[in-house]
Amino acid sequence: MSANDAVKPETHSFQAEVRQVLDIVVHSLYKDRDIFIRELVSNASDALEKLRHIQLTEKNVFEPDETLEIKVSTDDTAGTITIADSGLGMTREELVQNLGTIAHSGTKAFLQAIKEQGGANENLIGQFGVGFFSVFMVAESVSFYTHSWRPEAESLCWTSDGSGTYTIEPAENEHRGARIVIKLKEEHKEFATADRVKAILERYSKYVPVPLMFNGEKLNTVQALWLKSKNDIKPEEYKEFYKFQCHAWDEPLDWMHFSADAPLLINALLYFPSDNMERSGFGRMEAQVSLHCRKVLIDDSPKGLLPDWLRFLKGVVDSADLPLNISRETMQDSALVQKLNKVLTKRVIKHLEDLAKRDAEVYEKFWKNFSLFIKEGVVTDATHKDALAPLLRYESSTTEPGKLTTLTEYMDRMKPEQKEIYYLTAPNRETLESGPYLEAFKARGLEVLFLLEPADDFVMNHLGEFKEKKLVAADQADLDLGEAPDSAGEALPEKRVKSLCEWLKETLSGRKIESVEAGKRLVDSPVVALNADKFMTASMRRMMQAMGRDGADPMTPSVKLEINPRHALIHKLDSLRDGDPDLAKLIAEQIYDNALLAAGLLDNPRSMTQRIYKILENAAGGKR
Ligand code: ADP
Repeated sequence: MSANDAVKPETHSFQAEVRQVLDIVVHSLYKDRDIFIRELVSNASDALEKLRHIQLTEKNVFEPDETLEIKVSTDDTAGTITIADSGLGMTREELVQNLGTIAHSGTKAFLQAIKEQGGANENLIGQFGVGFFSVFMVAESVSFYTHSWRPEAESLCWTSDGSGTYTIEPAENEHRGARIVIKLKEEHKEFATADRVKAILERYSKYVPVPLMFNGEKLNTVQALWLKSKNDIKPEEYKEFYKFQCHAWDEPLDWMHFSADAPLLINALLYFPSDNMERSGFGRMEAQVSLHCRKVLIDDSPKGLLPDWLRFLKGVVDSADLPLNISRETMQDSALVQKLNKVLTKRVIKHLEDLAKRDAEVYEKFWKNFSLFIKEGVVTDATHKDALAPLLRYESSTTEPGKLTTLTEYMDRMKPEQKEIYYLTAPNRETLESGPYLEAFKARGLEVLFLLEPADDFVMNHLGEFKEKKLVAADQADLDLGEAPDSAGEALPEKRVKSLCEWLKETLSGRKIESVEAGKRLVDSPVVALNADKFMTASMRRMMQAMGRDGADPMTPSVKLEINPRHALIHKLDSLRDGDPDLAKLIAEQIYDNALLAAGLLDNPRSMTQRIYKILENAAGGKR
């Protein structure tokens, strides 16, 4: 670059998504315009925390003795407000990356919500913090002066009026950090008046863990909310802190604030969000619990601090036992971090268990949005799976539709002689209630859990048992439920049953049938297909199909057919074998398909249609 080029402002276009956000921010009405101050102060505070961390390991930092603070000043004659910090600053590339494209997940969520609702409205905008770009709600133009902490970096000025482009040009003798000069629009000049801005800053200042100066006056005495005593903090303060520190845009559903001194000194403030962005299609969440040592930020998303399945948590963990200069690379392996992980995970599980007891309604909200994380925990975290089991919630044959129960409650209702916990999986409750599997359990007064998500099968397989009771799929073949107490109707004689079973096996040869037997399970249905393969269950198969592993369908599992020797149709079928072999064959094929359909194993029911017509023809008066 020649000396001449260096002074020319470089003009860049904003990324399309940024332009979209800016357009909405600038042109939509907005009732809480003052949040731009919170967003910028929060960014400044982050920048200072990051610098503090850099200073622990980097010897060569630009202006190492600069005081770490945030300075806000107003000039009502010029109509400007300036927010400056001595944090880590930005290089030219970082300016392009961070202020020209969207980094903030809240901003992405904001755009998505607008798309879904078909336009922006005031409420919607109020729910989201759109980070730095919120400044354009009030700004005519913004000049972001900066010098990175890197000694070789240049002084720069990023400028934009919030329309399609921004410029970057060299600036003169900037101090380390950022200095954002906001020229306010005529109608928003109130943000250049000292009283107005001071009142706003005072609202947030108590969450800012660095000194905050306003027009030369110090506003806060530095404090970190997580180090304060619970009794001194109001719920509103917790909620504000959540938005400020965690850059959250929803309300927290619940939080836990605790300290421990054994085996480690810990002060933690962890939040449970209301919204699950992962479920709304924003991709995998990143851990958002930052790690501090005596208020100094060590890492804002440390790996290994919490198990992966707790990645939905937000908040702060502070441990005075951590060495300050721990590097991010060694952190994951550090025994200390593993210890922290253990303590925190245990606490979180305990907290959720208590929450369910204390406020079932809030827990249910949590469960509705975050159940998949708990289930992921059961499947992936062998250490905690048993502790997680009491957190699971399912419908069951004794609950009303939509109402949930726990494994513990199930156990309380169990008959003394019942040795196992039964469950069935299907995409919905109706399928289970109308299917042939439940009747055997109902007739015997046994409760069955209804598992309505594909992942649940995995969960049960991994859990294996609950309080020494085995978890058993109710459509499994090798269950002995004993004689049903009110077996109605006369059973076909044993010899006939045996020959009928053999005939069925033969007639249905070529299909995936492992065996045909008479069973004691059925009450109202003539036949049921039981899972012969404990792993390739119907729901496992659905899940694999959903994951797109199709091909020649190698996973059609073979089944055990169990017939009901008391059922009228089975009696009829037995006599039809001699009387009308053709019709008997049709019926045999049809009851097999019906059994598969009920099992969720019939992929193509179309082939049934012709057969059903033939059977109907018979029923309507036989062949012509
Ligand atoms: P977020 O802060 O949630 O990432 P923003 O849109 O507010 O989203 O900011 C985008 C990025 O710009 C930040 O992640 C940060 O890297 C950078 N940035 C913003 N303000 C500052 C600042 N005062 N000092 C250094 N970097 C900043």
